[in-house]
Amino acid sequence: MGASVASGAGAGAGAGARTGADAVAGSPAAAGPGAAVKDGGTGPDPAGRSVTVLGLGPMGRAMARAFLARGYAVTVWNRTAHKADDLVAAGARRAGSVREALAANALVVLSLTDRAAMYALLEPAVAALPGRVLANLSSDTPDGARAAAAWAERHGAGYLAAGIAASPPQVGTDQGRAYYSGPAELFEAHRGALGVISPVEHLGADPGLAPLCYQVQMDLFWTGLTGWLHAVTMAEAHGVGAAEVLPYVLDVAGSLPEVLRFYSARLAAGDDTGDVDRIAMGAASAAHVAQTARAAGVDPTLPDAVLATFQRGLAAGHGDRSFTALREALRAAPARA
Ligand code: NDP
Repeated sequence: MGASVASGAGAGAGAGARTGADAVAGSPAAAGPGAAVKDGGTGPDPAGRSVTVLGLGPMGRAMARAFLARGYAVTVWNRTAHKADDLVAAGARRAGSVREALAANALVVLSLTDRAAMYALLEPAVAALPGRVLANLSSDTPDGARAAAAWAERHGAGYLAAGIAASPPQVGTDQGRAYYSGPAELFEAHRGALGVISPVEHLGADPGLAPLCYQVQMDLFWTGLTGWLHAVTMAEAHGVGAAEVLPYVLDVAGSLPEVLRFYSARLAAGDDTGDVDRIAMGAASAAHVAQTARAAGVDPTLPDAVLATFQRGLAAGHGDRSFTALREALRAAPARA
């Protein structure tokens, strides 16, 4: 995992512009390793511009639409069949079964809630897996993706784990990015087709890399967004609305890229000097957030968790160091009840 990974995960949704090799997005898909179809599918499109999309939630639907817009022959399947209706009206082919959907194309894009959904769909259809390449753009853990890649290999399929930092409206545009990990040759064979979904990157051969970067992004995303919602709930308890605090929220949110670059450089240098911030200051500040929540009758669980982390830093004697020294407290998970 090199520098490209660090820059990829840090850019977040909406940041990516197509550069370099990404510019091939939308070019005809390279011929995949798809073996001849033996069980009733239509077989890979001779020109290679064909794809199967399994899972038609907001993301899968956006992906199928993007492929259709680029002239791909698209086969779709979804557990709840009616979600395919408008895609079929737009030119997609509805597979009658997962097995038929797999058989139709060498490249199979998965967009499902989680790994359990993938196994639920694919286990009964493993006979159609040989020769397929599964590009899984569903959320997963690094270990889960490694196990899924090994499972796919046992069934004769290639596996690319992916993370996608794009919202459904951004799919099929230059905004956002999708990053893949798994065998480079599989990625290169399908780079063009995958580039239809989002600008692409390959992070490395270890299937766990893309899910790791995705969970890095989601850790910040969900923790940050829940923090925002908590803050707004606290303001509302005082009769102040989300729109009224928005300028102050945006001040903090807007400062984050600079703050993150500053502290990332310091982390890389192993520098926890308390010249800009000190854990003792952070602990007092975090205590005020928790106190404000309690006083407003708002659930203090989130600020209490932050405060507890600062307090462990204090207890370890790091009061005069920067909050980045809290990594030591974060590495040593507190005992769970
Ligand atoms: P949804 O959860 O709304 O839909 C996912 C799909 O999974 C649906 O087609 C659903 O089928 C299917 N599914 C879930 N469980 C099962 C099961 N047990 N068996 C069969 N099918 C199942 O997800 P999204 O489309 O929003 O997202 C897809 C993936 O993309 C997720 O992993 C998400 O984390 C990720 N993602 C989402 C983004 C977003 O903004 N929405 C942005 C970036 C990534 P059915 O329709 O029958 O319920």
